[in-house]
Amino acid sequence: MSKRQLAMVMDLNKCIGCQTCTVACKTQWTNRNGREYMYWNNVETHPGYGYPRNWMEAGGGFDESGNLRDGIIPDMVLDYGVPWDYNHDELINGSLFQAKTDSLEWGPNWDEDVGGGEYPNSYFFYIPRICNHCSNPGCLAACPREAIFKREQDGIVLVDLERCQGYRYCIAGCPYKKIYFNPKISKSEKCIFCFPRVEKGLPPACAHQCVGRIRFVGFLDDEAGQVYKLVHKYKVALPLRPDFGTQPNVYYVPPLFEPPKFDENMQPVEGSRRTPIEYLELLFGKEVHTALETLRKEQEKRARGEESELMDILIAYSHRDMFRLDNNYYQQQVDKKLKGSEFFKVIDQRYLQGANTKRVEIKDYTFHEKMLPQKDSSKAKHH
Ligand code: SF4
Ligand code: SF4
Repeated sequence: MSKRQLAMVMDLNKCIGCQTCTVACKTQWTNRNGREYMYWNNVETHPGYGYPRNWMEAGGGFDESGNLRDGIIPDMVLDYGVPWDYNHDELINGSLFQAKTDSLEWGPNWDEDVGGGEYPNSYFFYIPRICNHCSNPGCLAACPREAIFKREQDGIVLVDLERCQGYRYCIAGCPYKKIYFNPKISKSEKCIFCFPRVEKGLPPACAHQCVGRIRFVGFLDDEAGQVYKLVHKYKVALPLRPDFGTQPNVYYVPPLFEPPKFDENMQPVEGSRRTPIEYLELLFGKEVHTALETLRKEQEKRARGEESELMDILIAYSHRDMFRLDNNYYQQQVDKKLKGSEFFKVIDQRYLQGANTKRVEIKDYTFHEKMLPQKDSSKAKHH
């Protein structure tokens, strides 16, 4: 257990599936160096197979007795889908726009917007997914090298790349399949919750760029924060597949708003909903009933012109309120005198710190200070 836990809440009623978050993450972290096929952030259509294909059926996580469940490692081509190129150069000669490959079997979002149900009562919604930075991570429990660790200061789960030997037990152990094998360096890699941004008081790129303003970021123990209020006060934000036993720290406000069903005369059926409640129960557990009821009541209150703190939070008026990262807290962790690339040098070294990695002494800070005029030696050492 970490001392504090950063968490993210995503309001599924507002996700429009635009993939801006996916692109924000990909361009920042995974468009190079063996990570090309990875989507640390992906947005998938539900009901659907998801990314990687059928991840909910791929095992991992813990059973009711707390034992690690067996899991599989998804196939790179058949389950993730590898990126392919197009014939851009040939278009100028009048060729048709085509993929440069003979057989396309599968890819991320292959079943985008397919969803479930029959016309005219078909339905779907989007679920954006990142690593859940779980309190009881299956990836960490499965790793025989103790190469995966949870940061004390914020519970972010990272891979110690020096210790990782690429055994891939972590991939089998994660029930969300949110840790990936990098074939170029033969190591496992995953979402790092944009910790270099977080340490500067900025939210992860996926949250900051989100067009629908669906994402809230903050510490779970910050009672004045919106994350705390959505998860603990109003209990409308729920973990995905809580039955997997890893205690995820990404929470979802379940989809409430959808068009009614149509009867055989194409008339709307009052009070009906298209998405089967059983499907929402599968995803979010039994608590989804209370969460939906709370959302409905608060929406009605607001429709009557009454105050509703919950609706105000979900409207998401201001980034300042949506992202409470407690920059001062991080400023206590790092030397304020470090600037620019020096700051990132220290972060990169801490990225490598795992349970068995020799601790990186904070020499870099003192080294920097030695370069400064030493007025008072008693103030020179911070750590
Ligand atoms: S979602 Fe998977 S990779 Fe992320 S911390 Fe949980 S078990 Fe590990
Ligand atoms: S950027 Fe926001 S609205 Fe767009 S797909 Fe991602 S989570 Fe959904």
